[in-house]
Amino acid sequence: MTKKIAVLPGDGIGPEIIEQAVRVLGALSLDLELETQPVGGAAYDVHGHPLPPVTLELAKRSDAILFGAVGDWKYDNLPREHRPEQAILGLRRALGLFANLRPAVLYPELANASSLKPEVVAGLDILIVRELTGDIYFGQPRGVRLLDDGPFKGERQGFDTMHYAETEIRRIGHVAFQAARKRGKKLCSVDKANVLETSQFWRDIMIDVAKEYPDVELSHMYVDNAAMQLVRAPKAFDVIVTGNLFGDILSDEAAMLTGSIGMLPSASLNASNQGLYEPSHGSAPDIAGKNIANPLATMLSAAMMLRYSLDQSAQADRIEAAVQSVLQQGLRTADIYEEGTTRVSTSEMGDAVLKALK
Ligand code: NAD
Repeated sequence: MTKKIAVLPGDGIGPEIIEQAVRVLGALSLDLELETQPVGGAAYDVHGHPLPPVTLELAKRSDAILFGAVGDWKYDNLPREHRPEQAILGLRRALGLFANLRPAVLYPELANASSLKPEVVAGLDILIVRELTGDIYFGQPRGVRLLDDGPFKGERQGFDTMHYAETEIRRIGHVAFQAARKRGKKLCSVDKANVLETSQFWRDIMIDVAKEYPDVELSHMYVDNAAMQLVRAPKAFDVIVTGNLFGDILSDEAAMLTGSIGMLPSASLNASNQGLYEPSHGSAPDIAGKNIANPLATMLSAAMMLRYSLDQSAQADRIEAAVQSVLQQGLRTADIYEEGTTRVSTSEMGDAVLKALK
């Protein structure tokens, strides 16, 4: 059956890197129907809104969205609701994308790019599953209030609310257990159960969900310890599942372990496995239009799309193997270049991956 893919290139390097990922998808002889619409600043320029109805409607009726990046300094003075970045928040909300999957993979060929010792990180392959639509980021009430009691009586106080409903924890738990099942069968749930009621509840529910996955080994770790272990012995992890706040911080920490932002894909999924797939980096306006951006994170995002939304794991494996092969050949875009390797442009990297696929 034909699968519909919404292609949203966006701003900055978005169109250049998406072009290469689309070439790769085209080489796989899959039954895909690709339709492109503008998003972010590019959509604001044409339609006066970063997520115009034509783009949102396309996203809603597609099986998956391949997203480049949005944002450019020239939109910095627009009112908040018209900024390019609002497009991502709007898509997450409209499609209910509650599960964010961010792999941190360090190919042995790029071990020198990490700030950690090569023997600590070479061959790193972990997956962080972050809950994306709940937690203290969205909890009500929030704001600034005047205290009428207690030691700070008469002062203003800023406050937010952390909460997780049982359904929110269960559904992210299932996504994480199922991902662990497809990998090394080890899941570490990260919380702060020694201090926070929300975290203790999170932990209790994870333990309950685990009963449905006897083949996956569940462990628990406090977030402060997890932050330490990620730099001490990151390869001890397989899959990490955590809430929105802790996941925001830990997924960036894990990404930086690899030292190469141009290599990291991501996926955001809803309950029906419809997903938005994008590189973890931004629109890099500083290098846009120069044909020097690294397209590999976007190609790897397309591989995740095949695996998680289109049930085409074998084709996803092919893309990942082709990426590994071009790295083994010593080909590098400027961001991952080091002495003794061959510097290539965005489109030359695309050519090389296509050749490796064949
Ligand atoms: P960025 O990720 O765009 O760039 C950070 C640095 O990494 C830059 O030096 C850039 O040249 C480099 N870089 C990023 N991707 C690269 C690639 N594929 N190849 C080679 N080098 C790469 O982050 P930033 O500069 O903080 O933000 C730029 C814009 O992107 C801002 O408008 C920001 O809001 C937006 N942004 C968008 C997303 C998204 O679309 N999901 C995410 C983060 C930032």
